Amino acid sequence: MNEAVRLETRAAADSRSAGGVLTIDLGALAQNYRRLCARSAPAPVAAVVKADAYGLGAARVVPVLHEAGCRDFFVAHLVEAVRLKPYLPADARLYVLNGLLPGGERLCADLGAIPVLNSLDQIRAWSRLAAALGKPLVAALQVDTGMARLGLSFDEMELLAADPAPLAGITLRLIMSHLACADEPELEANPRQLAVLHAASGLFPGVPVSFANSGGVFLGADYHGDLARPGVALYGGTANPAEPPMQPVVRLDVRVIQTRTVPAGTAVGYGGTHVTERETRIATLSAGYADGLPRSLGNRGAAYWGGIRLPILGRVSMDSLMVDVSALAPDALPPGARVELIGAHQTLEAIAADADTISYEILTRLGQRYHRQYKNPETRIGTSGQRQA
Ligand SMILES: *Cc1c(COP(=O)(O)O)cnc(C)c1O
Repeated sequence: MNEAVRLETRAAADSRSAGGVLTIDLGALAQNYRRLCARSAPAPVAAVVKADAYGLGAARVVPVLHEAGCRDFFVAHLVEAVRLKPYLPADARLYVLNGLLPGGERLCADLGAIPVLNSLDQIRAWSRLAAALGKPLVAALQVDTGMARLGLSFDEMELLAADPAPLAGITLRLIMSHLACADEPELEANPRQLAVLHAASGLFPGVPVSFANSGGVFLGADYHGDLARPGVALYGGTANPAEPPMQPVVRLDVRVIQTRTVPAGTAVGYGGTHVTERETRIATLSAGYADGLPRSLGNRGAAYWGGIRLPILGRVSMDSLMVDVSALAPDALPPGARVELIGAHQTLEAIAADADTISYEILTRLGQRYHRQYKNPETRIGTSGQRQA
């Protein structure tokens, strides 16, 4: 058997052995990228692919976005840059948002990754390395404009502009900052942050500016700067509640292990936190919190089958959860049947709301036990001679 056939056979086997199927639509990903590009034009659009492209697989996501024209990619941790580097096309730039932890400078330089320098200490360390290597090193510089998370204060930016000696040997490719409330367009915090960024970037004329995350792209041209930097909207998350939703990228179906009918008064799951009020038909599904379904969905969330809501009964277990399938015909869900957790009837945002969290957390926790199926992989480069739109 050749390698391709062996892998295909293995993939088919995985889909039977896994408790659920996670379908990732790379065509929808590319569509979302193009929509963000249209919205932020003429500013080009980078892609934030930290946390393994929000759980979807950076090695699969990066080539698709590159094919769509993306040349700037952001991860958060240096270790992510190390892992992503083999999949990064040669003409793409890779930024590390969290910058440099002591001892990581040489590795970052050897990788050719661009650190986002967040403090004077990080600047000094990068400058020292440039001197030691006898060549200039590229970096982005972050200013904290109102989030108190990462970056130099405005005062530090002023000091640095007045005396740029710490930047010796450093070529600044970007000045950047991050919005704290971009998904709440009406808040005054947004223009306030923008004003600080303008003042700070004005101290370094000629250096391109990057500000907008997904929400920022929809805040208008003032926020686009020279390079937008969305993450979640690429992956189908909502960036601005007033805008039409992005194309859904993720679909999650999990399998039924077993069904049973129990009488009224039956306690369901750990702690017996649900007690049936009437005769109830229960299906046990093969996914739990170890697969990234938050425990907070217990007695709150639901699965769907053919558009019918199947409420979650009791607590979510590590490897399974129970749903009420009394609304379905008794033979509707034989063992192995799939029900929808994320899809046409329950959006990513809806399950996140039921779990009292945000789409980002649902995505980045999607488990490793699902069978992962990538749709439209033909848009990837390097796999075959032919491409489809
Ligand atoms: C995560 C992150 C982004 C992307 O944010 P989204 O809200 O997912 O678009 C952009 N910039 C920085 C600094 C980030 O940490």
